Amino acid sequence: MPTGWTVGIESTAHTLSFGLVDANGTPVAASSATVRPDEGGIHPREAADHHKDAAAGLFSSLLDANQLTAADITAVAYSQGPGLGPCLRVGAAIARGISSRLDVPLIGVNHCVAHIEIGRQQCGCQDPILLYVSGGNTQVIAHLDGRYRVLGETLDIGIGNMLDKFARAQGIPFPGGPVIEKKAAEWLGNNPGARLDGLELPFAVRGMDLAFSGVMTAAQRLLDNGAELGAVCWSLQEHAFAACVEIAERALAHTGKSELLLGGGVACNTRLREMCTLMAGEREATSHAPPRMYCIDNGSMIALLGHIELNHGRVTSLEQSAVDQYLRTDQTPVTWAV
Ligand code: AMP
Ligand code: MG
Repeated sequence: MPTGWTVGIESTAHTLSFGLVDANGTPVAASSATVRPDEGGIHPREAADHHKDAAAGLFSSLLDANQLTAADITAVAYSQGPGLGPCLRVGAAIARGISSRLDVPLIGVNHCVAHIEIGRQQCGCQDPILLYVSGGNTQVIAHLDGRYRVLGETLDIGIGNMLDKFARAQGIPFPGGPVIEKKAAEWLGNNPGARLDGLELPFAVRGMDLAFSGVMTAAQRLLDNGAELGAVCWSLQEHAFAACVEIAERALAHTGKSELLLGGGVACNTRLREMCTLMAGEREATSHAPPRMYCIDNGSMIALLGHIELNHGRVTSLEQSAVDQYLRTDQTPVTWAV
C-alpha cells in the first residue's frame, strides 16, 4: 500500500510526461512536453532525444509545483508498452533510476490500461465499454474474466495517425486532429444545413474492426478534385467517428453493458463526444469522457495505474522491467476491476 506519492512516467510516443497521484490515488496536473517536428512525422529516435533532454526539468517542475521533494515519492510507475521502442526505453531508464536512487518500488504498466483506469476514476464508471481512440491505437474494449478484452480494433493505422497524416499533407503540423476539428466546425458554421450528404467517403467498418487508410486516401482525392478543405475535414470526421461509434454500439449491444467511456487523444474532439452521447442516449446507455488533460497521453494516468497495481501487490523487478513495444491491452491481468 503506497503511503506517499506515486510518480508516473509516460513516454510511449510524442509526449514525455511526469504525473503524480497521492496515497489515495488522486492525481494532480502532470508536467508534460510534446515533440513537434518541423516537418514530417514523428521520428522515434528524435522523439527519444527530446524526452531525454526534457526529463530533468519536467520532473523538478512537477515536484516544485506540488511543493514536494524526492523524499515524498514512495513508488515509481512507467509505461512499459505499447509504443515506440526508443521512447519507451527513455521512460523505463528514468523510472529504474528513480526507483534505485530513492529505493522505492518500480511498476511497469500497460499504457492502454492506464487510459481506461484514469477514465473510470474521473468519470465514475463501473463496467464500461471503452472506445479508445488515440494516435497509434483505436480499439473497442470490454472487461471480461480478469482482462480488458479487445472486441474490435483498427486493422491498419490509428484514427489519430490518420487525421495527423491527412493534416500533414495539407501543411498542417502535428497534431493535426485539433486543427481538423476547428476547420470542420468553421465549415459547418458557414453551411448550417449540411450533414453527411455533402461528400462521400468509404466507411471504415470491417465487421467489428476498422480500417482508416482508405478513408484518408479518398479524402485526399476529394481535395485534389477541388473540394473545399473545411468540407472534407467535416466529412472525414463524420465518416471516421461514425465508424468508431458503430462498433462501440455493437459492443454495448452484445455485452449488455450500459456505459460507454471515451479515452485517448482523439477523445478530446467535441463532435466525437457529441456522437457518442447521441448513440448512448438512443439505447438508454450513458456516455462518459474524462477531462481533456486526461485524454491525451499524460503521466497522471500512469501514476494512477501504478498505484492501483501496487495496492494489488504487483511490482516489477529490474529483470522484468524491459519495455514491450507490442504489449497488448489484453495481456495485462486486471485483478481490481469488477
Ligand atoms: P494520444 O496518442 O492518445 O496522445 O493522442 C494524440 C492524438 O490525438 C493525435 O493524433 C492528435 O491529432 C489527436 N487529437 C488531439 N486532440 C484532438 C481533437 N480535438 N480532435 C481530433 N483528434 C485529436
Ligand atoms: Mg495514448
